[in-house]
Amino acid sequence: IVQYKDVHKSFGDTHVLKGINLDIYPTEKIAIIGPSGSGKTTIIRLLMTLEEPTEGDIIVAGENLWKMESGGKMKTANEKHLREVRKNIGMVFQHFNLFPHKTILDNCVTPLVQVKKMKKSEAVELSKQMLDRVGLGEKYEAYPANLSGGQKQRVAMARALVMKPKIMLFDEVTSALDPELVGEVLEVIRDLAEQDEMAMVLVTHEMDFALEIADRVLFLDDGVIAESGTADEVINKSDNPRLQDFLRRFR
Ligand code: ATP
Repeated sequence: IVQYKDVHKSFGDTHVLKGINLDIYPTEKIAIIGPSGSGKTTIIRLLMTLEEPTEGDIIVAGENLWKMESGGKMKTANEKHLREVRKNIGMVFQHFNLFPHKTILDNCVTPLVQVKKMKKSEAVELSKQMLDRVGLGEKYEAYPANLSGGQKQRVAMARALVMKPKIMLFDEVTSALDPELVGEVLEVIRDLAEQDEMAMVLVTHEMDFALEIADRVLFLDDGVIAESGTADEVINKSDNPRLQDFLRRFR
């Protein structure tokens, strides 16, 4: 459903992504690992369309998201397609990004009403179902400030999931959490992965978790995909010295 073809991204003089080629298939679970600064978040932000590439193609549902203008700058190829793509992608960030002044129920209801134009009563029903599913059925009327980090992260997931995305992107969703809260968040992701409804791309430092749920692991190093294979091939069997050095620090 998504194809990156020779995608480059620079910020000023910093060449962050140096030719990414990647196909993401429906329902596939991909984990991206790699050192800090290697470009993992940038790959995700490009897919979320929060950034445009400097060069290359990002093709979603058969259509290029960007086109090169005559001055060499990238521009949206088709606004309508881009909006459609955004509706089908859910993202969960390291720092939750919840609306602080809304209850957790309203955090889920608002995007459904505003973006999906769903009827309020239907949106409330669906949001409650999703909050139940992430284990927050008792907390509909709580505010984000009164929740633990793990609970906030589960709200963030429910809010993305109510939109029924075709792809969910998780960017280091456990790295801001206290160690004892990591498990409950991984449990929700594991549950989602088992349902198998959508593609998932996870940037993570949890190697054991990647081994458990990922169909494919990508090792990103200095802006290129240096290794790609099954979790076992990449995490347990690769003899790439840079990867081994990285794994030694994270296992
Ligand atoms: P981490 O694990 O630390 O989050 P990462 O692999 O996700 O790292 P990215 O966040 O993709 O790495 O960043 C890659 C490089 O791009 C970094 O050197 C970063 O400073 C730079 N970068 C990212 N976004 C911007 C931006 N908006 N402007 C300038 N430089 C940026």
